[in-house]
Amino acid sequence: MSKWQAEKAEKNRQSLARLHMVLPRIFPSAVLSWALARPFVPPTPRLAVDSYWRVHPIRADRLARALAARSGAPTSWTWQLGDNRKHRLPATYRTPPAPYRERVYAQGPGFCCVCGRPVYRFGWHVDLWDSGANMNANWHCACVIAWQFWNAPSDYTRLLGRLQARRCGQSGGRLWKSAEVDHRVPLFRVWSEHRETPWPDLLNYWGLPNLQLINRDVHAAKCALEARDRRAARLLEAELN
Ligand SMILES: [Zn+2]
Repeated sequence: MSKWQAEKAEKNRQSLARLHMVLPRIFPSAVLSWALARPFVPPTPRLAVDSYWRVHPIRADRLARALAARSGAPTSWTWQLGDNRKHRLPATYRTPPAPYRERVYAQGPGFCCVCGRPVYRFGWHVDLWDSGANMNANWHCACVIAWQFWNAPSDYTRLLGRLQARRCGQSGGRLWKSAEVDHRVPLFRVWSEHRETPWPDLLNYWGLPNLQLINRDVHAAKCALEARDRRAARLLEAELN
């Protein structure tokens, strides 16, 4: 065994001992088996949960949208943009709408600001321990990852490429290394044409249902077409006014 391997084995032995010492009797089994199979075992339950969701962004995306569906939007909420930081409205339509992040609808500690559901131990979304909401948390671990996925889908090109079996989402041709992430329905159109879609269905436009990896030339052509449509829509609007 090389020196590096010996150090790794020792580090894992310590992490495992620490994890077993603090691990509650009840713990999500999928997370535990994931953690135990890591080359470097996470030393705490919380790190195990974080690491589990980090490598399962698609699952996190689906879960966050499902949890949000259970909350529904607050009664008087509508999707609005704003640059007043006090109200915590998103400044651009590129940011996924999230009512519970806004000042007026924020539910305070123990509730997730993305989906609006209670957050439990270890940032988990189910109270497996019957210990009530975790008052030190306002994000589910899964929702943190979903939020990153929605805001920066281009960080997940490899994963999307795998899901599409290395085929361009638009042309069906072989996917090149330079392929880019695209929103099937562009976000400017979500804002201009689908703004009234009830929340959280709106979130589907940021999640996997609206994402595809496409080759760069196909993407450029699609963007040019979209820009043309946008100009035409603006002209029509000006004429009508
Ligand atoms: Zn959440």
